[in-house]
Amino acid sequence: MTENTQSTGIAPSLPCPSCGSQLRYSAEHKKIACDHCGYLEEVDKSDDEVIEQCLEDAISEAPMYIPEQQGKKVLECQNCGAHFMVDAQKVKVDCGFCGSIKVNTEAFEHQYFQPQGIIPFYVSRKEAEKSFAKWIKQGAFHPSKLKRMAKMDSLHGIYIPFWTYDAQTESTWSGQAGFQQQARPTMSRRGQLQQVANQNMVWRSGNGHLSHFFDDIQVVASGGLDQRHMNKILPFNTNEVVNFDPRLLLDWEAEVYSVDVEKGYQMAEIIMDQKIRNMCAAQLGGDEQRNLHINSTKTNLTFKHIILPIWIASYEYMGEIYHFTINGQTGKAGGQKPISYVKIGLMIAAFVGFLVLIWFLREWRVFS
Ligand SMILES: [Zn+2]
Ligand SMILES: [Zn+2]
Repeated sequence: MTENTQSTGIAPSLPCPSCGSQLRYSAEHKKIACDHCGYLEEVDKSDDEVIEQCLEDAISEAPMYIPEQQGKKVLECQNCGAHFMVDAQKVKVDCGFCGSIKVNTEAFEHQYFQPQGIIPFYVSRKEAEKSFAKWIKQGAFHPSKLKRMAKMDSLHGIYIPFWTYDAQTESTWSGQAGFQQQARPTMSRRGQLQQVANQNMVWRSGNGHLSHFFDDIQVVASGGLDQRHMNKILPFNTNEVVNFDPRLLLDWEAEVYSVDVEKGYQMAEIIMDQKIRNMCAAQLGGDEQRNLHINSTKTNLTFKHIILPIWIASYEYMGEIYHFTINGQTGKAGGQKPISYVKIGLMIAAFVGFLVLIWFLREWRVFS
């Protein structure tokens, strides 16, 4: 990721205090680094600014972030719609999410909620490349072209936006619990124990109250990657979130959220309601539940905005976009690969051929 970029004078294009070259954040050293003279600077590990913000006051009070003031520009991919930030000096940019070069390079000024917290990159480009090379070779039923198509230079290190939500919930519930009647073993005429299938279900009504506090429900706010895809490389260890420091973005890309704080909360609510339902069902008990009605209220709603590191490689195959991602904190990798129907067809043909051969040999032996 090393680039010999000229300082443009926009903050935080940060000169090295020792030689004056441009500093960057290095995942290899996990420090702010100077490639020119080897100067290293510790990252501030404090996290006192990563605090809950009231969801109701979100629009009026949250501190805003203007990428242009931080030496960044926001670009929009015209192919997949992702919005991401790169260093303002960067001339040629391709989209980390779909590999497209159809990127709207006309930076437009925007304001965003300032991220409160960040997990810096711990997985270096070298480690990410190794992991990618290993993954792309795995599996027999993928097109052979894949290894050639999935180029290392499509690998992007990018910070992905997340919302986390807290809520105190109170739920009253009522429903019916079904208890499967134990099948009683009986003695058969021959004196053997026999299980008698007994499908009787006994239903009992119940009701109750559930009080539960949700802490840090994580919602992906990315426009380029959905939750389903992120699930493959979760979890992040959010204990390592530190205060947002724009210096950690030096030489790195960052996506700005496409899912806003209210929309994100709607997703968090779906996640919470599903968990509440499971917990109420557990309180009700039984082998099965029916007519479970739940009434919930959620109060003390708060949120945080954090950005988390991933490595991503994208490629297009037969008009579909495939992603490979690595958790930039833990190194956990996941992705999708196209399946080669030709290879599967050949294997089926070989198997059928083998059966025909066996049949033929047997017939031949009978007649000879
Ligand atoms: Zn230096
Ligand atoms: Zn794109």
